[in-house]
Amino acid sequence: MKIICIGRNYIDHAKELNNAVPEKPVFFMKPDTALLLKHNPFFYPDFSNNIHYETELVVKIDRNGRNIEEKFAHKYYSEIGIGIDFTARDLQAEAKKKGLPWEIAKAFDQSAPLGKFLPKEKFDDINNINFSLKINGELRQQGNSKDMIFTFDQIIAYVSQFVTLRTGDLIFTGTPKGVGPTQIDDHFEAFIESEKLLEFNVK
Ligand code: MG
Repeated sequence: MKIICIGRNYIDHAKELNNAVPEKPVFFMKPDTALLLKHNPFFYPDFSNNIHYETELVVKIDRNGRNIEEKFAHKYYSEIGIGIDFTARDLQAEAKKKGLPWEIAKAFDQSAPLGKFLPKEKFDDINNINFSLKINGELRQQGNSKDMIFTFDQIIAYVSQFVTLRTGDLIFTGTPKGVGPTQIDDHFEAFIESEKLLEFNVK
């Protein structure tokens, strides 16, 4: 499986990092070794001094497809969950400055903590899902899928023009504003609506 991540999908987040608002989805990938599952701790890596959290809704692909039309995209996923796109912001800034790829800052081991999924039917409208992150009990990020520049279905249609989607692939759909640094001993809890779906510690 592969993890596809969308960057700059919320206007307020693009602005907080002084990035232009994109006209097409911006995507990059993480390998399966980036996954962090089941309450396992995130070990703060030695190669960075500025690991940022980005809380994102995650779509789990459950059907193979390429060149998927937007109007059929909803048939390719039945569950939505939540995850963290950990980013080594210092390494990313260096890569951006030199015009180099971002993988070093995005694809490292454990950079994709992933929580439990909820069935799509649970939501009245998937384009109106509230989600949030608490660190050490304090609210740090809050978003709603209605503020995404590109919807789940638009993302699937766009990405599948370039990359075949397969059952089990994950799409991280971008972070709202409020990203920030994490520290050793932080306790993460991520929610969709009021349901806690992800919890882990930083060590
Ligand atoms: Mg992100």
